Amino acid sequence: MTEPELHRRQLLVALASGAVAICCPRLAFAQDESLGASLESGPATGLSAHPARWWKSAGELRIECELCPNKCRVADRERGTCGVRENRDGKYYTLVYGRPCAMHIDPVEKKPFFHVLPGTTAVSLAAPGCNIQCKFCQNWEISQVRPEQVQTYAKSPESIVEAARRFGSPTVACTYSEPVVWSEYVFDIAAATKKAGLRTLMVSNGFIEPGAMNDLCGVLGAVKIDLKGMTEKFYKEQCVGKLAPVLDTLRLLVKRQIWTEIVTLVIPGLNDSEQEARELARFVKKDLGPDVPVHFTRFHPSYRLQNVPSTPVSTLTRARDVAIAEGLHYVYVGNVPGHPGNNTYCPGCKKMLIRRISMTTLENRIKSDHCPDCKRSIPGIWS
Ligand code: SF4
Repeated sequence: MTEPELHRRQLLVALASGAVAICCPRLAFAQDESLGASLESGPATGLSAHPARWWKSAGELRIECELCPNKCRVADRERGTCGVRENRDGKYYTLVYGRPCAMHIDPVEKKPFFHVLPGTTAVSLAAPGCNIQCKFCQNWEISQVRPEQVQTYAKSPESIVEAARRFGSPTVACTYSEPVVWSEYVFDIAAATKKAGLRTLMVSNGFIEPGAMNDLCGVLGAVKIDLKGMTEKFYKEQCVGKLAPVLDTLRLLVKRQIWTEIVTLVIPGLNDSEQEARELARFVKKDLGPDVPVHFTRFHPSYRLQNVPSTPVSTLTRARDVAIAEGLHYVYVGNVPGHPGNNTYCPGCKKMLIRRISMTTLENRIKSDHCPDCKRSIPGIWS
């Protein structure tokens, strides 16, 4: 398939909504000025040293962190691998609680969530840090740093809820970096939004211990997991991570009935084979169910993979075709504006339900959670 034509009028709509980047798509981690001013930014430096959850004493002032599968054993005055959790006199602290380094108003489709309140915005924020090291990270300036290396702002969970109310956003998204390593903040934001009748979305690598994920499930509205590949080799060599715990997280989310979508960034020569797309689809269908949406997203050279070319559109189309043939109901193509895989189709009658251009919803025909034509129930959070 050749590069899809982008209709000029559709592009203008997308640009007007901010859903298509017209300059560098990399996250501008300086805080969005209008949002920042509106939120009355707090002091722009400093660490929070908030008591951490999910750890246990390992004796002699040592600590074992139980938040993610790295299970760091941390000596007094040291930090774990993520660099944002510190042992002080045998007690563990998170240094990034209430200290976001980026805040934006994004279309919810940009996360991407395609089955969560289409056409709405999400107050999106990140605190510094990550627990793995992807060579293709698009936000490495805030994920692969220590909190002292970026400007942060004092924002309580309540002030995030207030921002969502002020900007008319039904959701708050913990995104951009890796929310797992700031889970205490995520939890309190999610609890505050839930109390306010809003939802918190977590955009994560899924590299988290089941105990912590279970706790978060009690307050989160929906989760998007980056399933970066289907082999341990890929996770080890490209991410310094592990695949198995991510698959376990996905199983847990579905068991807890948390709305979950999956994104795979398809990188030429590394995770782009037809066989890998087939294995991913088979895992999703068998372990999670065919209604879990999967997004195959186009890679562009970034961070430490500057020498790898952009993904051919034909590769993404093939991955989508394979996943649909394997029985998945909702398979999308991302980062290719105008591709038919931007849209949602009814798995029953095959009619188009939601028409999108990239991250902008142009038309939503779903009526009371059902296809208006064949009346099939369409899973998601629609209202
Ligand atoms: S969250 Fe950070 S400190 Fe805890 S185990 Fe993971 S990398 Fe280590």
